[in-house]
Formats: sequence, structure tokens, C-alpha cells
Amino acid sequence: MVVEPKVKGFICTTAHPVGCEKNVLGQIDYVKKNGKIEGPKKVLVIGASTGYGLASRITAAFGMGAATIGVLFDKEASGKRTATPGFYNTRAFDAAAQAEGLYSKSINGDAFSLEIKEQVINTIKEDLGKVDMVVYSLASPRRTTPDGTSYVSSLKTIGADFTQKNWNLRDNTITDATLTSATEEEIANTVKVMGGEDWIDWMNALSDADVLEDNAITLAYSYIGPKLTYPIYHEGTIGRAKQHLADSAIAITENMRDKGIKAYVSVNKALVTQASSAIPVVPLYLSVLYKVMKEKDIHEGCIEQMYRLFAEKVFGTEGIQVEADGMLHVDDWEMREDVQKEVMDIWEQINSDNLLELADTDGYWLDFYQMFGFKMDGIDYSLDVEV
Ligand code: NAD
Repeated sequence: MVVEPKVKGFICTTAHPVGCEKNVLGQIDYVKKNGKIEGPKKVLVIGASTGYGLASRITAAFGMGAATIGVLFDKEASGKRTATPGFYNTRAFDAAAQAEGLYSKSINGDAFSLEIKEQVINTIKEDLGKVDMVVYSLASPRRTTPDGTSYVSSLKTIGADFTQKNWNLRDNTITDATLTSATEEEIANTVKVMGGEDWIDWMNALSDADVLEDNAITLAYSYIGPKLTYPIYHEGTIGRAKQHLADSAIAITENMRDKGIKAYVSVNKALVTQASSAIPVVPLYLSVLYKVMKEKDIHEGCIEQMYRLFAEKVFGTEGIQVEADGMLHVDDWEMREDVQKEVMDIWEQINSDNLLELADTDGYWLDFYQMFGFKMDGIDYSLDVEV
């Protein structure tokens, strides 16, 4: 069938299989062109089908020559419904990895569940013996814990309500959006979903099953961003969860000291992904940031970020590059003083009349569509495709 984008707010309900494949192959190409990285050889990626997790898996496989197991939560196509992009991305990744003789297995199911943890452990035992790296890159609005309780995360402030400029994606206007403050329960639930508890559960399960190599490394991803978005992100409910993630890295390293296992959080750049486009105010910040970083020729996407993280900050010749806050930072270019000053100058002036001139709205939308396999160069979207 002919697959067209169906955009509703910040989500697209269709995905193009050939476009998604092209996107994955483009990321693989990028890694190959940038050369080999000396690093782990058996890598588990939890949240491996889109965004930072997919880019991590591609870098591990095609940069480090690693065997990879990916965990994802994606839907297959059914009837006239296409699959989700992560499904097509994973199929394309598996095929490309196997074509190069790289081991690659993908497990589609709820990473928060005991069943999927068990399935992954059995797969490691049967196929790889042990893993020497675990990337934890889940972004999810909800989590059901093994006792059957479901928790939903909130994107809210903590303390006072917060009003800030917001880009209305539907009509390209800028109006104020107000985020209300969270209750204690909403804060706790967000920490349950997006904090480090499940990361710790994974590491304990892998360790108890003896499928972690001594001196293995594990990474999870975080975001801090500029003061402008602090009330929404860094100091909001999600920031509280990210604090828990950072504390969990310390706890994992401490608990697994005798095996030499080390856990780190990497603070990454703000990018258009399915997770970030759902956060109010963030799309406007992203499109202004894109404008400034592209003009300075320092713009990066997920693959550039993850390649730089692995090649320079984790497995580079200088050893692991932890900053004073105990975390790795590939948000360093985003947070550069000159970049942030220009972003803030634009932020002061931006309104509905000058939005298209002052922000890279085209760049935002291009990234958005490409996440779903649309608007990729060289694809004839009028052709029938097998979904
Ligand atoms: P994403 O939505 O692109 O990817 C999320 C991945 O998690 C997908 O592979 C999805 O299939 C998987 N997933 C979700 N729920 C699952 C479940 N229950 N079981 C198994 N798999 C599941 O998100 P992303 O933006 O790449 O985010 C990944 C991490 O990076 C998050 O911790 C996020 O906070 C962090 N981060 C994102 C940004 C950004 O701007 N996008 C910036 C810095 C850090």
C-alpha cells in the first residue's frame, strides 16, 4: 500500500518501512565513515529501536564490532495499520548487522516485566555467555511493576505553576503555555517510571544470573538543559526522576564494586525524538537551538551524539571522561556559553510573526517526519510498499 504520514499533534500514527530502513542505513554509514572504536564486544541495549538507544546499538555494532541484543516495545503492522517506526528500524538493523556477520537479536516486549528480563538472560546465556556493556535507554510514559501496579509519569513542575512561550505546532503561532505543579503522588509516580529503579532491577537480574562480565560498563541517559526549561525539565517531575537515575548509577557501581562493574549517566543533547516532542515548550527550544547550532556548524543528531560519546567520552584514548558532577556530558556543545547566549537572545524576541525566521522550524519538522521514515531523500513515496 501507499503509506502517507498521518500527524496528530506530536505523534505520527503511520511509519514508512523503506524510509525507516534508509534512516537506519544512513546512521550505519555515518558510523562506518567515522571509523572503529575499541570497546565492548557483547552489548545489551534496552530501548533499542529509536532515538538514543538505536544510535547506541548502531555505534556498538558498526563502530565496535559488537554482538548486540536489543529490547524494544513496538507494534507490528496489522491490516491497514503500519508497524511503529521502531519495528521497521529494528528489522533493518538486524538485517544489516547479520549481513556483516554481526550477531544481532531483538526482543520485542515490555522491558519492565520479569518475563522479558528472563527472556533476555536466557538469550545471553545461550548465545553470548555474558555481556560486557548494558545501555539503558528507555523512555516510556508508564510502567507496570512486577507486582502488577501501573504507574504513569507526568510532565509537571514541582512547586509553583510555570508559564513559558510555546510553539503551537498546528498553526505556527506562539502563545503562553502553563504547566501546572505536580502532587507528591505524581512526582513519586514519575520517579517510578523514569527513575533508575528498573535499571537497578535489570543490573541485579543480570548479575544474579551471572551474565555480566567482570568490569562491565552500563550507561543510562539524561538531560539537564538551560535555565529556561528548568521548571519543566530539570527541576520538574522528570528532573526528579533523572536525579533518581543519577543516584542509581552510584548505587549500581557501589553494589557491584567486587565485580568492577561501573554505571554512568550520560547527559545528552536535546533532540527531536518521540519522547521529547511530547514535552510542552521543548519543541520551540529545540527549533531555536537547531538554528543556532546549525549556523555554528556544530549541530548533531542521535548518531553523531552516540558516536562521540562512545569514541571520545567512554572508550577514547584518554579514558572515561566524567565531569565534576560525576556524569558524562555530550550536551557540552548545546550548553556552550555562546550557543546559549544566542538561544536566549532569540527566545526574548521570538513571537508568532518572526517564528519562521528566527527558529529552524523546517529542521524540527524534517527530524520529526524522518523519525517515521518520511521525507527521506531518494524515496518515491507514491509507490506501493509492503508494510
Ligand atoms: P525514544 O522514545 O526515541 O526511545 C525509547 C525507546 O524505549 C524505544 O526503543 C522504545 O521501543 C523503548 N521502550 C519504551 N518503553 C518500553 C518498554 N516498556 N519496554 C521495552 N522498550 C521500551 O526516546 P529517546 O529520546 O531516545 O530517549 C532515550 C533516553 O534518552 C531517555 O532516558 C531520555 O530521557 C534520554 N534523553 C533524551 C533526550 C532527547 O532530547 N530526546 C535528551 C537527553 C536524554
